[in-house]
Amino acid sequence: MTASRSDSYYIATAIGQRARAQLNGARETDVCVIGAGYTGLSCALHLAKAGMKVVVLEAETAGFGASGRNGGQVITGQRVDQDELERRYGEAHARSLWNLALDARSLVRALIASNAIECDESPGHFTAAVRESHARDLESYVEFLQARYNYSTARYVPGAQVPEIVACHNYKGGMLDSASFHLHALNYALGLARASDEAGVEIFEHVPARRVDHGNNVRIETANGSVSAKFVVYACNAYLGDLNRTLARTIMPISNYIATTEPLGDSRAKALIPSGAAVADTKFVLDYYRLTADGRLLFGGGESYGGRDLAKVAEIVRPHIERVFPQLKGVKIDHAWGGRLAITMPRLPHLGRLTPNAYFAQGYSGQGVAIATLAGKLIAEAIQGQAARFDVYASLKIPELPGGTLFRKPLLALALTWYALRDRLG
Ligand SMILES: Cc1cc2nc3c(=O)[nH]c(=O)nc-3n(C[C@H](O)[C@H](O)[C@H](O)COP(=O)(O)OP(=O)(O)OC[C@H]3O[C@@H](n4cnc5c(N)ncnc54)[C@H](O)[C@@H]3O)c2cc1C
Repeated sequence: MTASRSDSYYIATAIGQRARAQLNGARETDVCVIGAGYTGLSCALHLAKAGMKVVVLEAETAGFGASGRNGGQVITGQRVDQDELERRYGEAHARSLWNLALDARSLVRALIASNAIECDESPGHFTAAVRESHARDLESYVEFLQARYNYSTARYVPGAQVPEIVACHNYKGGMLDSASFHLHALNYALGLARASDEAGVEIFEHVPARRVDHGNNVRIETANGSVSAKFVVYACNAYLGDLNRTLARTIMPISNYIATTEPLGDSRAKALIPSGAAVADTKFVLDYYRLTADGRLLFGGGESYGGRDLAKVAEIVRPHIERVFPQLKGVKIDHAWGGRLAITMPRLPHLGRLTPNAYFAQGYSGQGVAIATLAGKLIAEAIQGQAARFDVYASLKIPELPGGTLFRKPLLALALTWYALRDRLG
């Protein structure tokens, strides 16, 4: 089985995939968005709703990138915990980041509801502690969130009660958040694309932006045409390639793999995850999984750091599945695929402007379903002159990755392999 996206469970169960035009000739617009994932589509949708003329250029098809391939876990908060954010940036900035994370979660729900997006929204997220020390940390974190952020939907689950949430004996405890949820990643992206079409956005597919000339008017060149725009938005994330070297320097593309089993039947599926919650463990290279609407286990695990998809995805993920659920030994795997995410050094997204009219958002570090949706909206706000919320992210210092473009991959691969080894050694 190969890592091509056609093997994806999401493609096999996609709703509303439609062919869109290719760009031929010259276009003029207010805003040209490059990339039709959550970032680009949310940005385009919000701008069009505000009355702006928007063109989206997508190299493949809407939702082709991480947005159509991910675990579908809508996890409350930033990728970095609030206590760590307070240490790094001070309480006021950490609080603003927390509030934005809550807004991001509400935004996803609101977009699904207001655009009637069918994407199997389902409640609950469980962070599963693989070590006693992680369980203690999660217990204190639940107390910290309650005491300092008045956050009451998360509760600590002691080890003895874990089987009520998930039937895995490896976990020492965990945090269950009933306000987090999970969804069909691609159908959510396709729903945003449809809503954008309806709002008047022109989405062009199979049209990679080849070159961007910045200036008062930005000119974006494609194979058979060009777009002249007052603003450009880079929403390419880990699929950026060499379109912009400055943006490439702060993100590291990582390939991550997901497989879905055959449908397990109601009772077998429910026996695996009685709570129905999405689960992610506390390892550095984490296992994350959930049940799909048709009763499969959708399981993500296994990474490679070169940004290349490997050939035998199912065989990468299977050992992870069987370690967590030995009862699934030999289970039939129907779909397996890979996708690329982008991480930054501080594990927080990188938002900013390259020039006064060239915006970007990228580097969600594995937690982008909600935050990328929000980032698109924040860029839309900033383009309309309201940059206060955009600046909460844009003011974070996101350093370039060490080693320059040539050496950073091997260096980071080495560092991350060390962390993966540490996970295994316990
Ligand atoms: C396997 C996997 C599992 C994940 N699991 C989760 C999860 O459970 N929960 C969570 O919150 N996050 C998860 N993530 C992260 C999340 O999916 C991403 O953060 C989010 O989708 C990023 O959205 P985006 O729109 O910025 O980028 P993408 O969805 O990657 O979209 C970028 C788009 O830009 C296009 N593009 C690139 N270059 C050009 C160009 N030159 N011209 C035109 N178009 C171009 C690409 O074709 C692509 O469609 C996961 C990611 C992966 C890969």
